[in-house]
Order: sequence, then C-alpha cells, then structure tokens
Amino acid sequence: MKLALFDGGVPGVVVGDAIIDISDIVGDGVMGVPGRDRMATLARAYPDISGHLAAASQAGRGRPLSEVRLLAPVPRPGKLLCAQGNYAEGVDGPVRPPAMFLKAPTSVIGPGDTVELPPTPASVFHHEAELAIVMGRRASRVTAEEALSYVFGYCCFVDISARGVRQAAGFADKSIDTFGPLGPWIVTSDEFGDPDDVRVRLSVNGRPRQDYWTSDMERPAAELIAWASSIATLEPGDVISCGTNHQGLGPVQDRDVIEISIDGIGEMTVKVADPLGRSWPDGVDEELAAYMRRQRLDPGATPPDRFLIGAADGKDPLEAVA
Ligand code: MN
Repeated sequence: MKLALFDGGVPGVVVGDAIIDISDIVGDGVMGVPGRDRMATLARAYPDISGHLAAASQAGRGRPLSEVRLLAPVPRPGKLLCAQGNYAEGVDGPVRPPAMFLKAPTSVIGPGDTVELPPTPASVFHHEAELAIVMGRRASRVTAEEALSYVFGYCCFVDISARGVRQAAGFADKSIDTFGPLGPWIVTSDEFGDPDDVRVRLSVNGRPRQDYWTSDMERPAAELIAWASSIATLEPGDVISCGTNHQGLGPVQDRDVIEISIDGIGEMTVKVADPLGRSWPDGVDEELAAYMRRQRLDPGATPPDRFLIGAADGKDPLEAVA
C-alpha cells in the first residue's frame, strides 16, 4: 500500500494516479495529532487498520494526484539517520564498519518543493539518491534477523550535501533547511519486498546521474536498523536512509530539476534555487567518484582539496553579517 500526506496533512492511499482520503478510516487517534505527526501515529495503528485501508483503496474513489499537493510522508521525523559510505562503489574491498550521522528533521521537504542553496560558502552542493526506511514499531537493540519486522515502509530520499564547508559531520554540511527531500509516499513493507535488491536512479534536468542497485550496500537494511537500534531506540516514524553510491553524484544548482526514482516506489521531483546564482560544471563529478573508489581500498586516502573541510575559503553567513 502507498500511503501519503496531502493538502496540509490529510492521509491518503495512492492507487494509480489517484489518492483516496482515508481520514475517516484512520479516525481521531490519527487525525487528532498535528499533520506532521500523523504518519508516525498511522504507522502504530497500521496492523489494526490495514484491512480497512485496503478495502477503501479497492473502492477506488479518489482524486487525481495532479489536483492535490503531496507533502513529505513524514514531514518531521523524530530522527533522520543517514548511513555514511555504505556502498561498495563497484570495488571489491573490505566491508567497512557501520557509520551514520543525524541530519536535522527540519531539513525535510516534500515532492515538488524547492531545495534552496544557502549563502554558506561550499565548494559544491551534491545530490545523493538514497532508499529510506521508515520505522513502524519501537525498536531497541533488535537483531538483524528480526529488524525488518519493525519497518513500516520505504520511500525515496535525497541527501543534499554541501562540500568543503568549514564544519561538517552532519550539521553544517547536511542539516541545511530544505536539504532533505523525502517522498513521494511510503510503500508499506508488506508490499515492498526486499529492500536489498532495488534499483535507485536520479536524474538532473532529465539527464541520468546516479543508477545503482541496493544489492551493492555493504550493510543491508536489516543490519543498519540493528546497528542504529543498538545505540538509540528507534520510534515509529523515525527514518533511516541507507546511504548512497557516490558513482554518479554531481552538482545541483540554480533552476535544476532533480528526479529520484526507486523501483517499487515511484518518482519524486524537486526543484533547486540559488539566490546567488553560483554555477558548477554540469554532469557527474568524476573526481569524487574516483576518490570514493580509492577510499574503499585505502581508508586513509586523501580526498581532493575541494572536499576537505574548510576548503571553501569564504566567510560563513554569520561572519558575513558581522
Ligand atoms: Mn548520504
């Protein structure tokens, strides 16, 4: 089942090109909480109401998707955890230890929204197409064997990233407002199938950039969940993004249109705006791609200068104001 939020926070089931309002079925327990919390609440209730939702979706009376405005299905996840360097990148090297960072939940935007590049001096801004996991049940110290049973569903995520900024580690480089496009809806795990064998694609202005399979993940979805839950309790509506394959990354810049597509989920488009109108060479960043392959075999490999923290030699916005 495809579950979405639309028109300010109304929950719906997506069937083909239509969306069916399910606010009457989910009841006061879901509708009584703010729109941005509704999907997490729905996730908790899902095992009890999925039959009713399926019946409603078969009744088939919906509005055309083109007439509604979709929101991110989880507009403010309690936690937005992003895997770092979780893809083999086509290199037969050792499997690296798991690593994640927390990206600010306020970075999340939805389908059709606009990524706004800040005045932050960055050497470049990149897209990272990722498969995102949405948790359905509270999970603390779960095993990899049981981990997928805690999943509510899956959606598309673009981990927009600033390179070369003075501070990094998930905040100054990743947590910028609008840098977390999530959507267009959640495909529930009972329908989605195997998260470790799906194709992820991203194009910019219709030209292909990323195209990879999640079977290339070093840590499959279940291990990511188990590892994260060994550190922090995962709650319904929390999001774990599986990381990206850096082969195919490239710049995003003013007036770009980004489309991410994941088999079994669908496509999501977002726009890019840069009030400063900066520009970078269009196309795949081959220098970064080569560095990521090199790093698979030599974790101490030095990145190209422009990706080093602090490489963008400019003032940060507060300094500029001062
Ligand atoms: Mn990422």
